[in-house]
Order: sequence, then C-alpha cells, then structure tokens
Amino acid sequence: MPENNQFKWLPAVDEILDYEEIKDFYKMPRTLVVEAIRSVLGIYREEIRQKKIHYDNSKELRSAIVHDIRDLIKRRSKPMLRPVINATGVVLHTNLGRAVLSEGARQAVNEITGGYSNLEFNLDTGTRGSRYSHVEELLQKLTGAEDCLVVNNNAAAVLLALDTLAKGRESIVSRGEMVEIGGAFRIPEVMERSGSKLVEVGTTNKTYIQDFEKAITSDTGILMKVHTSNYRVIGFTHEASVPELVELGQRFTIPVMVDLGSGCMFDLKSASVGDEPLVQQVVAGGADIITFSGDKLLGGPQAGIILGREKYLSQMKKNPLTRALRIDKMTIAALEATLRSYLDPASAAREIPTLEMLTRSYDTNQIQSQKIYEILVLEAEGNFQIKTEQGVSPVGGGSLPMVELPTVLVMMKPEKMSAERCVSALRKGNPPVLAYIREDWVVLDPRTIPEEQYEALREAVKQVFGGI
Ligand SMILES: *Cc1c(COP(=O)(O)O)cnc(C)c1O
Repeated sequence: MPENNQFKWLPAVDEILDYEEIKDFYKMPRTLVVEAIRSVLGIYREEIRQKKIHYDNSKELRSAIVHDIRDLIKRRSKPMLRPVINATGVVLHTNLGRAVLSEGARQAVNEITGGYSNLEFNLDTGTRGSRYSHVEELLQKLTGAEDCLVVNNNAAAVLLALDTLAKGRESIVSRGEMVEIGGAFRIPEVMERSGSKLVEVGTTNKTYIQDFEKAITSDTGILMKVHTSNYRVIGFTHEASVPELVELGQRFTIPVMVDLGSGCMFDLKSASVGDEPLVQQVVAGGADIITFSGDKLLGGPQAGIILGREKYLSQMKKNPLTRALRIDKMTIAALEATLRSYLDPASAAREIPTLEMLTRSYDTNQIQSQKIYEILVLEAEGNFQIKTEQGVSPVGGGSLPMVELPTVLVMMKPEKMSAERCVSALRKGNPPVLAYIREDWVVLDPRTIPEEQYEALREAVKQVFGGI
C-alpha cells in the first residue's frame, strides 16, 4: 500500500468538527476543540511522515484520531486545581491546601460569593462599614483580646506588626527561636524586610529573661517571642516565658509580640493531643500583640490573625501595608463561620474537620480503616494483598512536631508492579490519590479520607491495580 495514502486519509479540521463524536463537545469553547484537533492531527502527520504508524484503511485511522482528540479535549478541559484524596494521614498538609473547611464555612463562602453582601456596608446606618467588623466581635469574645485585625496569612501579620512597631528600631528575639517555616518564611529575613534590626539574645538551648533585659536600649522597638512551630529544642533548655517578657516590657514600656504560628483555640491538650498553648491563655498572659495562622490548628481559611492592645492595633490599621495585605470576602465568610463553631467547643470538635481528625478516637479510626478495607478487598483478588495494621499519623503544617496520632492503616501490596509504580499511578489517577510506602506496601491512612471519598477511592484503586 502506498504510504502517501495515509496522508490523504487524514481528515480536515472542519470535517472532524462535524463528526458526531466531536459534536458532543459543542458546549466547550470552540477554540479549545479546534486546538485539540489541530494538535492531534499534527502528531499523526508527523508519525506518518516518520513511518511510525500505519493504518490499513481510512476508517481505522479516523477512529484512532477521534479517540485521541476526545481524550485531549477531556484532559485540557479539566481544571488545573482539583480535589485529591489525601491518604497520607497528614492532617495539615501544606502542599495539599492545609486546613479542610467546615461545612458551615463552605456554605458561607458559597452564599457570600454568589451575590452582593454587606462586606463594607453598615446596614443599620446605611453608611460605609468595615470588612473586619464581621469577625472582630467573635475574635474578641473567643480570645479576650482588646482589638484585632486579619490579613492574608501569618507571614503578612508578622511583617505588618514589625513594620508598624519596630521599623528602624531593634527587635529582640531569642537565638532558640530563629524559626524557618516552609516556603522560606524566616524570622531574620522577615525582620530585615520590615526594616527592623534583629538583636539575637541567649543561646540555642537556653535563653533567660535577663538576656532580654541586658539587650534593651533606647532603640528597642519590640520584644518578640516566636513559637518554634515545626521543631523542639529538648534536653537542657530554658526559655523566657510570656509573663516574664510582659513584666519586662511593662517596666521599659516596650510592646511584647508573640508569633504563635499555629494559633490553637481548642483545648487539644485536654484531648491528649500535644501541649499547644491556647491563644486565650497567651492573651490573658498579657502579650501586647499575638499573631497566628487561620489555616493551621484553627482549621479555617488561609489568614493571619492579629490580636492585641488597641493602641498598637490602631497603628497597624493605619499602616498602608494593611491595604496591600487585606483579606477578601471569601476569607471573611469562611473565617466568621469557623469562629462561630468555637462558641461551643463541643461543636467545634465535631464541625471543624481539622479538630475532628486530630481528636478522633482510636476506635473510630479502627472502624474507618475496616470500612476502607472492606471496600478495597473487593478489588484485591489477583491484583494485590491487603491488610490493616497499626501506625501513626503526623499532624503536619509545621504544627505539633512531636505528636504522633495512633491510627490503623490500610496497606496494599501490589502483585504485578512495584509499590513505587503503584504510588505514582495513584497520584496520576482520577481522582489523584496521595499514598505512601512502608516496606513495599502501599499505605492509606484513613484519618484524612472522609467517607464521601470512599467510593472515589475504590474507583481510583481499581483503575490502577486492575488496569495493568
Ligand atoms: C506557620 C508560621 C508562620 C507563617 O504562617 P503562614 O500563615 O503560613 O503565613 C509564621 N510563624 C510561625 C511561628 C509559624 O508557625
């Protein structure tokens, strides 16, 4: 058969657009469909030229092309940002979006973004209002703080506080608290950006209040304490406490700032999860400025929450940086709903997924694990071995680094491929599943897999293990 026939059999773009199988896509943007047709035709033309493919008749060629075009359109029309199944058990997984929002928070975002709202409008007076007013009272009530402000994230909160109160002046920080958070947030660098001069005191393992006192000069703008979120200095250690710093600050009229990082407002310690200080306690301890994230242990949207004395907060509110760091209505809607759950701690533990996952009992974990096992075992025969085994889940998100939550893992050992290949295929699947490997077994941690995803998980596992 003369090879140039193959070229002749290649249909024209307009012709393909009229095919029934392509007409399915009439709702899609025409440019997307045309571009997909052109790129598939381009590939075929090249492969025919290089004699890499050969079809016996035009019908066969046509059907292969149509298949590839449909595939490409489907792939290109899927959103880039999409849901995944987090089977790692890491509750606050920064790369997977940190905190999962509560049902109430999601509903609030949906309702507020689908129309107009009183974002900056006072309905009582009919005049301009403040976007922060929607969360101010709640934050004051829940934490006891005099005043508050919310910005885009905690990095922004720290930057704003330092820029407002310590620009061109000295900030004293313990050497044991020179934190680096993932994504290149480093205390010394943020300090430099804000135009404040970092004065390090003490040593890596021991810093006393006297070290702070000796470093105070007429140029001191702030005394700062940073929560060592993602690491612990253990053994022969000492740190200056918040009350000690507050006493010193009051004596020299220097504000004390505490970067809490995680910002825990639910008593996790009483639930035997870590020993995180409560925001309420740090406020009561007299710190002048407190900053923390909205999407770590609080379990809300990405935000940086600043609490503290009115005289400092009012200066921050006037700083032009505040306008550049301001949060949008989606964040406010989600944050308000999240904070509302905290009015009743028992509801918070139930409604806020982060808290629910962290405080879930071992028995519940075991039940969830068994349920996943029973669903997946139906796909196992001839494809993989499956078992459940005790394990631990880390907290993640630079929070509670020493805490390991006991869990019951579901483990699969593939029969026809390596565990590495299986984990990679699961990651590229639909929906993507993020699992990990332990001694040649593919591990799924039920803690971070909500029941609504079980069916999708079965489908994804079936695609990967059954398809080889
Ligand atoms: C996480 C963290 C930050 C950064 O918070 P983001 O909300 O991620 O910007 C800053 N300081 C500490 C101590 C943290 O733990």
